[in-house]
Amino acid sequence: ARTVHQIQSGQVIVDLCSVVKELVENSVDAGATNIEVRFKNQGLDLIEVQDNGAGISPENYETLALKHYTSKLSTYEDLTSLQTFGFRGEALSSLCALSKFSVTTCLASDAPKGSKLEFETSGKLRGTAVVAAQKGTTMTIEGLFNNLPVRRRELERNIKKEWNRVIGVLNQYACILTGVKFSVSQQPNKGKKIVLFSTKGNNTTRENIVNVFGAKTLTVLIPLELELELEPTSGPSQHRNTRGDEDSTKEVKIKGHVSRPAHGEGRQTPDRQMFFVNGRPCGLPQFAKAFNEVYKSYNSSQSPFIFADIQLDTHMYDVNVSPDKRTILLHDQSRLLDNLRESLIALFEAQDY
Ligand code: ADP
Ligand code: MG
Repeated sequence: ARTVHQIQSGQVIVDLCSVVKELVENSVDAGATNIEVRFKNQGLDLIEVQDNGAGISPENYETLALKHYTSKLSTYEDLTSLQTFGFRGEALSSLCALSKFSVTTCLASDAPKGSKLEFETSGKLRGTAVVAAQKGTTMTIEGLFNNLPVRRRELERNIKKEWNRVIGVLNQYACILTGVKFSVSQQPNKGKKIVLFSTKGNNTTRENIVNVFGAKTLTVLIPLELELELEPTSGPSQHRNTRGDEDSTKEVKIKGHVSRPAHGEGRQTPDRQMFFVNGRPCGLPQFAKAFNEVYKSYNSSQSPFIFADIQLDTHMYDVNVSPDKRTILLHDQSRLLDNLRESLIALFEAQDY
C-alpha cells in the first residue's frame, strides 16, 4: 500500500518546484499576510514555509495529511468555480510519503503555545508536542525524495535547473501577492543564511516588482491594461456559467506591466516573464510567444519584461489539465491570442518615444 501511495504521490509533488508551490499556496489560502520561505542547500536539505495565517484546529490534526483531506471543498460546485488555490487535499499527504515532514501550527487564541505535528509516511499522525509558536503555520520538509533513491539522484543532478525554476516561481508569488510580506532565504551547505529577496506588504504589484527586481526595472515598464472581447461561440465548446446561462461573460482583461519597446537599457532575462491566470502563477508559453513576437517587431535585440495577469471568468479555463495545476487550458485560446497581438500593437503604437 505504501508503494502505491508513493507512486500516486508523484502526481502532485513532481519536483522541488511543486513542493514550494503547494506550500506557498496553502499559506495564501490560510489568509497569511506574512510568508517566509527558507531553504537549506537549495532545498536539498530543507524547505520550510512559515506563515501567519489562520493556523490549523486541533480537531483537524489527525486527518490533516491523509489523502484527499481538504478543508477547502464544501460543495461540488466549488470544483468548477475555484477560488482557493488548493482543492484536492493531495499535497500534504504526498509530502509525508516523499520526505520527512512536520508541521508547527498555532491558532490566534492559543499563542504563544502551538503544536508540533509529526506524521508517518502514510500520512497518519505519529504524535504531537506542545511548542512555543505564534499564530500561523510552519511546514518543514527535510530530505525530499530520500526514500525514492532514483528520484533523489535525479533531483541532485538537476538541482541547478530546479533551483532556477523555484526562484522564478517565488518571484511570481512575491510580485503578485499584494498586502503580503513575502521573503525568501537560502543557507548554503557551508555558510550563512542569505535573504534572496523580500517584499514589504505593498498595496501594488508595481511596488512588489521594485522590491524583487530593483527600482531600475521601473524605468522600462509601462502599465499593461488590455480588455479583450471574445464573441460567444456555439457548438460543443459552449461553456455554461453557474446559473446555467448559455452566454456567460466572454470578457478577458490582461493587467500588469510590460517593458516599453525600443528601450535600449538593460537586458531582460526570460525568468522575468511572468504570467498569471486570475492571480494564479502559471506557465503560458503561447502568451509569452505572442508578447515576444509583437515586441520583436519593434526591438529585435531584446525580450521584454512581462508581468501579465489574465483575468477571466472561472468557466473559461481549466486548471485541472496537469496535476501541478501549472498548465492551464484557456477556452478559445487561439482567438484570444490574435486579439492579444492586436491590442498589444495598439498599446505600443500609443506610446510616446
Ligand atoms: P488542499 O490545499 O488541496 O486542501 P493540502 O494537502 O495542500 O490540500 O492541505 C490539506 C489541508 O491542510 C488544507 O485543506 C488546509 O485545511 C490545511 N493546511 C495546509 N496548509 C495550511 C496552512 N499553511 N495553514 C493552515 N491550514 C493549512
Ligand atoms: Mg494545498
